[in-house]
Amino acid sequence: MILFEGATFYTSANSLKDLPVHDGKEIAFAGRSNAGKSSAINTLTRRTKLAFTSKTPGRTQQINYFRLNSGHFIVDLPGYGYAKTPIAIRKHWETFLTQYLLTREELIGLVLIIDIRHPLKDLDVQMLELFSSTQKAVHILLTKSDKLSRQQAMVTLRQVKDFLKVNFPAVSVQLFSSSKSIGIDDANGIIQNWID
Ligand code: GDP
Repeated sequence: MILFEGATFYTSANSLKDLPVHDGKEIAFAGRSNAGKSSAINTLTRRTKLAFTSKTPGRTQQINYFRLNSGHFIVDLPGYGYAKTPIAIRKHWETFLTQYLLTREELIGLVLIIDIRHPLKDLDVQMLELFSSTQKAVHILLTKSDKLSRQQAMVTLRQVKDFLKVNFPAVSVQLFSSSKSIGIDDANGIIQNWID
């Protein structure tokens, strides 16, 4: 069975007590606002409008669950780093997301979406630091790779790999593009491995 087949919206959560009870595993998707997270989820699930893509960054302020035919779940986390998000809301989310990422037993891995033109910003590194304490899997999609030449994309990929090797040796990374369907099979393969 194809991992991301049959994705449908399942539920939203705004606090720990809202998190659903189920028998599947959860794969969380995180990234800076506007990095291309919704597009990546839509591309991987081949559902053009599953995750809400928007030109207004920072709009999705809840955890969205999508159920897969396999019985597992994609968990779409709110984008971070949008300066205009009011502080009170940001604090609520920081607390909730930290608790979710550090304590959720069903969660088996994190897919971190990074715009290849803005690799490894402070908040991305903070996310890696936070999550690394769980010892769970992390895979980075350097998305919008179609925006760079192949050569430029390879240079950035190399730089990110070098950084990870020193700082987060267990974390993997690949090129991705939702517009040009680059890297879908690789991403599928890696995430399938987590489940197996
Ligand atoms: P999110 O805020 O992280 O969910 O980002 P979105 O998926 O809504 O994407 C933000 C913007 O980047 C939108 O205008 C998308 O059309 C664009 N975008 C997303 N992925 C790609 C990609 O792979 N290539 C290109 N060229 N644009 C993309």
